[in-house]
Amino acid sequence: MNLIIKNPATGAAIAELTSDNKASVRAKLSLLQQGQKEWALHPVKERLACIIKFGELVKQHGEELSVILTRETGKPIQQSRNEINGAQNRIDHLSSHAERWLRGEVLVDEGLTHEKISYEPLGVIANISAWNFPYNVGYNVFLYALVAGNAVLYKPSEYASLTGKQFEKYLHKAGVPENVFQCVIGPGDVGQQLLEEPLDGYFFTGSYGTGRHIAQTVAHKLVPVQLELGGKDPLFVMDDVADVKQAAINAAEGAFYNNGQSCCAVERIYVSEGIYDNFIDAFVAEVKTYIIGDPTNQHTFIGPLTRQPQIAVLDQQVTDAINKGAVLETGGQAMEGQGYYYQPTVLTNCDHRMKVMMEESFGPIIGIQKVSSDEEALSLMQDTDYGLTGAVFSGNEERALKILEALNTGTVYWNCCDRVSPNVPWSGRKNSGLGSTLSAQGIRAFVQPKSYHLRSS
Ligand code: NDP
Repeated sequence: MNLIIKNPATGAAIAELTSDNKASVRAKLSLLQQGQKEWALHPVKERLACIIKFGELVKQHGEELSVILTRETGKPIQQSRNEINGAQNRIDHLSSHAERWLRGEVLVDEGLTHEKISYEPLGVIANISAWNFPYNVGYNVFLYALVAGNAVLYKPSEYASLTGKQFEKYLHKAGVPENVFQCVIGPGDVGQQLLEEPLDGYFFTGSYGTGRHIAQTVAHKLVPVQLELGGKDPLFVMDDVADVKQAAINAAEGAFYNNGQSCCAVERIYVSEGIYDNFIDAFVAEVKTYIIGDPTNQHTFIGPLTRQPQIAVLDQQVTDAINKGAVLETGGQAMEGQGYYYQPTVLTNCDHRMKVMMEESFGPIIGIQKVSSDEEALSLMQDTDYGLTGAVFSGNEERALKILEALNTGTVYWNCCDRVSPNVPWSGRKNSGLGSTLSAQGIRAFVQPKSYHLRSS
């Protein structure tokens, strides 16, 4: 069966790719199983050189790659460029640190018995990925896995398959052998096929539902499983922010960048009652300035949703919130005409009976709730099944840290949000996932330690 790629801005088919099937997945896996052994023998420096070259090629072809990303996901072109340029920081960071992180360690070298650790690759790993930031989330896994000596069977989302094919093309051009990186194309059932095969690890980015299914399906294999899942990330705006208008502008960007389709997008906002009215005025005014439309126009901030079915999810959240007493400040429905456009939507007077405050929206809508104390805000921020990120805007670091230290999330932000850095681990708690990417921990995820006890006589 073939995979038809559609442009979300028009709904028109723009490409057709041959989908993989059971036989082709098996053939690719067997190729990788042979290649991985040889790849693992190369020094880290040589593997790293291929990744650095890959980064150079992506940079050289950046504009062409941005256009492809925009055409298949609807991401506004300037945001596609930002993503491609921004993801390069993973390569820079790896090239500075990977050799040190992967070097073995001698723990005892005196006396009769010497003890040391070496780090060995896992083997051939499955990288099942999402469409919303294919460069960021792809790089977080396959670059680190390759540098650590693994081979990678990469399954892009069916909504980012053209981009996935570009990764394959440029990795091979950069010197990563064909029997070390292979892309499999197709919808979810091709991903399912990967679960049936004997891979040495499963590294998944996507929704909680699919992540849980993957963990359950491969549990009997007893191989590493890592899950980077969704979130319902809260932001609390305290009454001591230096500039309410600027706080509103930053909060809106955190909620609406990439059309809200970010795992760490601000998904619900709590505002201290003392600044609530001013904050709402500034927030709504800011959202009304957003340029919506053709994602190939470099001034566009809000393009189409990538997936048409998400429109029904957003409609349900809006209707549910209004029925329970929320105030619709702006937006509230899909836009007429071609493409999967949804109006940037702001709901105020929200509370936790509403889906918009409890379920991942993954679109350009936000619920805002007034709070009367820091304790109330913290309790509401913690009232979630997710645990990806949480943010506080405040003029007082100590006051903000009190909340951030109490949050049960993998990442916390003070006066910033919707941000990922290669320096620190990226990890979710509760329904937001398992394990870490990025930093030293992100590369150790792709190796297994071997302990040596060496007695000379
Ligand atoms: P999905 O869970 O729908 O899909 C993720 C990947 O899994 C896709 O490649 C998909 O293929 C594949 N897949 C679907 N069914 C199966 C199956 N049965 N077995 C194996 N693989 C399967 O997520 P989305 O792509 O819609 O991504 C959005 C979600 O990802 C959001 O919840 C978001 O928050 C989260 N996310 C988390 C990040 C994090 O770092 N924590 C980062 C980015 C996104 P196909 O698409 O072809 O159906």
